[in-house]
Amino acid sequence: MKIINLKDTQNKLFYIGGVVRDELLGTESFDVDLTYVGNAIEYAKTLENVEILKVNEPFGTVRIKVEGEEIDLASTRSEFYPKNGHLPVVCELGCELKKDVQRRDFTINALAKNFTTGEIVDFTGGLEDLKNKKLRVLHDKSFIEDPTRIIRGLKFSVRFGFELEPHTKNLQKNYLENVNYDMSFKRVKKEIKETFNLNSDLAFEKFREDGIYRLISKTPPNAPKTAISPVIKKYAHLLNPQNIWLIYLTAMPDIERLLPTFDREEMRIVESFWEIQNFCPQDDFEIYKMFEQKPVETVILYGVMTDLGTATRYLDKLKDIKLTITGKELVAMGFKPSKKFSDCFDFVLRKKITTPALSHEDELSLAREFFA
Ligand code: ATP
Ligand code: MG
Repeated sequence: MKIINLKDTQNKLFYIGGVVRDELLGTESFDVDLTYVGNAIEYAKTLENVEILKVNEPFGTVRIKVEGEEIDLASTRSEFYPKNGHLPVVCELGCELKKDVQRRDFTINALAKNFTTGEIVDFTGGLEDLKNKKLRVLHDKSFIEDPTRIIRGLKFSVRFGFELEPHTKNLQKNYLENVNYDMSFKRVKKEIKETFNLNSDLAFEKFREDGIYRLISKTPPNAPKTAISPVIKKYAHLLNPQNIWLIYLTAMPDIERLLPTFDREEMRIVESFWEIQNFCPQDDFEIYKMFEQKPVETVILYGVMTDLGTATRYLDKLKDIKLTITGKELVAMGFKPSKKFSDCFDFVLRKKITTPALSHEDELSLAREFFA
């Protein structure tokens, strides 16, 4: 665990959740969460070596910077869900630690570690579940109040090789048979993104086979034509790792409910795929034209969903073929700018695709030939 220099004379500061779990598992943590038994915002203001970056008054949380490290510091709180599937509201800020951990998702994420003494505080049996590799919710309404926990469960089961214990599995099954679609899909998206960005075929298989897909759609996804993760691994250097999840998600037949949460880049990847998914190009020139302006994620999607041979042909052989002649050069050669220019480029491109070694001079003479 990273050494953090904070003063806690009253012994009220604890590491909480994932960071404690990860230390016990011996894996590295993505982020550090601390909780303060009391008002964390007031506490943060008393600290000398701390920069306050962001305050969320209603939730009593504060993001701080200590010796270059950004950390989330929360006040202990209890919560209540006025509307299942949406954000909870705070009942009591600064409550006892024992109450705070009850609002968490799984027992393994409800462990605390005293910041000063290092003592592990386990109110929910998290240590035992960690040992037995089990995911256990803290109460029977857990998934009803916050269905994103189902996807979090999937994420942790894949990341750590854990399993839902039987009662939790049953609660999940019951919820998935009666999903209430009035929920915050923004939160669902965040968890799906983190889960599928792991690039795990197992996560996608469990998503389908355990019925977790029902959180977003009633239509089950087909098994993809090919395992997705090796294709993504092969082309990892070409794509944005933050977009991996979209390749898995778009393999679903119905993602309507998540679309409003997409940003422009995400929308472009998905819409470009829908546009070309049924095209069957006849030759390399058509393959090139089909993919030329498309994001690489779209090409990979086409590969895993429609035709892998065509996608890999483009990515391995055609993608880097580029014409070197320009419109300016055609003008300098005495040709008037017109729609014919793009026909001319296509004419030269066709030749270049079959003979990639064509020189600039060769391209110019082909252009002349075209206009002749
Ligand atoms: P990661 O390693 O992915 O960050 P994490 O368990 O730390 O895993 P965070 O999203 O950072 O996950 O959340 C920190 C803690 O907040 C969790 O360990 C858990 O105690 C609690 N938490 C997060 N999301 C939920 C949720 N949807 N319901 C209940 N508790 C949650
Ligand atoms: Mg975390």
